[in-house]
Amino acid sequence: MTSQSVATAAYLVAALLFILSLAGLSKHESSRQGVLYGIVGMAIALVATFIVVADAESTGAAGIILLLIAVAIGAAIGLWRARVVEMTGMPELIALLHSFVGLAAVLVGWNGHLEDNFLTGSLEDIHNAEVFVGVFIGAVTFTGSIVAFLKLSARIKSAPLMLPGKNYINLGALAAFAGLTIWFVASPNIGLLIAVTIVALALGWHLVASIGGGDMPVVVSMLNSYSGWAAAASGFLLDNNALIVTGALVGSSGAYLSYIMCQAMNRSFISVIAGGFGMEAATADDTDYGDYREINAADTAELLKNASSVIITPGYGMAVAQAQYPVADLVKKLRERDIEVRFGIHPVAGRLPGHMNVLLAEAKVPYDIALEMDEINDDFDGTSVVLVIGANDTVNPAATEDPSSPIAGMPVLRVWEADNVVVFKRSMAAGYAGVQNPLFFRDNAQMLFGDAKERVEDILREL
Ligand code: NDP
Repeated sequence: MTSQSVATAAYLVAALLFILSLAGLSKHESSRQGVLYGIVGMAIALVATFIVVADAESTGAAGIILLLIAVAIGAAIGLWRARVVEMTGMPELIALLHSFVGLAAVLVGWNGHLEDNFLTGSLEDIHNAEVFVGVFIGAVTFTGSIVAFLKLSARIKSAPLMLPGKNYINLGALAAFAGLTIWFVASPNIGLLIAVTIVALALGWHLVASIGGGDMPVVVSMLNSYSGWAAAASGFLLDNNALIVTGALVGSSGAYLSYIMCQAMNRSFISVIAGGFGMEAATADDTDYGDYREINAADTAELLKNASSVIITPGYGMAVAQAQYPVADLVKKLRERDIEVRFGIHPVAGRLPGHMNVLLAEAKVPYDIALEMDEINDDFDGTSVVLVIGANDTVNPAATEDPSSPIAGMPVLRVWEADNVVVFKRSMAAGYAGVQNPLFFRDNAQMLFGDAKERVEDILREL
C-alpha cells in the first residue's frame, strides 16, 4: 500500500468522524462526544497530511519542517485564544477565524494559477474555473468576516450601510465575476485574477456592511457556510478529498443554520444572504415613551416571595455580568419555596446561537426548566413575575407592534403579558439593534439598575 492510499483512507475516516461530530453537536446530551469525534477526526487528518507531505518528492524534508512550523504557530495561537476568550467574545473570534479560511482559499487559488500544473485542454479550463471560484468565495468570506468581526466587537457601528443602489452594486459584482471567469478560462492572465480578487473583496465588505445589528446572527452562520465552500473550493484545487468533504459539511450545515435562524427571526433567507436585499433603512425613533419606574433589590425580593410563578428571560447582559451562577442559586431558593421557576430562551439571545443554553448549563440549571421561546410564549400571561436579566432586543414589544422598527417582524418573548416585569440592566441604553425598548415604560414594568450579577446577589441576600 502506498503512503498516498494510506492518507486517502485516513482522510475518509476523518470525514466520517466529522459527520459523527456534527450529529453529536446537535443535542445537549451528546455534544461533548461530538466535540471529541471532531478532535480525533482533525488529529487523523493532520497525521495524514504529514504522511502526504513526507512522501511528496517536490517538498521532502523542507516540506515537513515548514508544516511543523505552521502547525506549531497555529496550535500556539489557537490554544492561547481558546484559553483567554470570554464567552461573550466567541462570535467575534469565530468571525475572525472564518476570515483566515477565506484568506487561505484566496492564497491557494493564487498558488493554483502561479504554479505549473501541466494541464491541457478541458482539464486546464476546469482548473482555471476552480481557481476563480476559489479566489472569489475566499475573498468574499475574508472581507465579509472582517466586517462581521469589527461589528461584533463594536469597533464599527452595527447599523446597516445603505449605499444608493446597493442591490445593483451586488448584482453588478456577481455579473462581473461571471464575465471575468469566462474571460479567464478563455485566456488566463494575472490581470484578470487581480481584478476578480478586488471585486470579491469589495463585494464581501459591502454584503456584510449592508446588514444591520439585529440580523447579525444570520450573518455569522452565513459566513460560517461561506468559509466551508471556500475550503471545499481549495480542496478541488489541491486535490484533497478531506478538504472537499469537510468544506461541504461546514458549507451545508452553516447554510442550514442560517435558514433556521432566519425562520426564528422571521427574515427572508435570500434577502439576508444577498446583503439585505429589499430591506429599507428604518426611520430614526424619537418617540417619547413617557416615564419609567425604578425598583430596588429588596422590593424585587418581596415581589418574588409573593409570586406563584416566575419566568427568567436571560440575554446578552447576563453573559457580560457572568450572572448565571447567582441566577442558578436564585432559582434553587425560589423552588425551595415552592415557586414555579422556568427560563424563556430566545433563539438569538446573547451573541451566538445557543449562548444562553451554554451559560445555564455551566451553572448547572436543569435542562427541563429552560424552555424555547415557542414553548413558553403563551405562558407569560398569568405569570406573577418575569425577570428580564440583561435581555433587551429579544423582549422588545416594538418588534410586534411597530412595523417601522428595524426589528419589526422578529418574534420576541412576550414578557409584557405577565403581571410584573423586572428589567435588570445598567442604564436606559438600547440593545444590540440600537432601538429603544417601549417595554421599560409599561405600567407593569420596573427597572432594577446595576450590574446583573450584583443585583441578583443582593436579591439572594434579601431572600
Ligand atoms: P441585547 O444585546 O439586545 O441587550 C443586552 C442588554 O444587556 C443591554 O441593553 C445592556 O444594557 C444590558 N447589559 C449589558 N451588560 C450588563 C450587565 N453587566 N448587567 C446588566 N445588564 C447588562 O440582548 P439580547 O440578548 O436581548 O439580544 C441579542 C441581540 O444580539 C439581538 O439583537 C441579536 O440579533 C443580536 N445578535 C445575536 C447573535 C446570536 O447569535 N445570538 C449574534 C449577533 C448579534 P445596559 O448597557 O444598559 O446595561
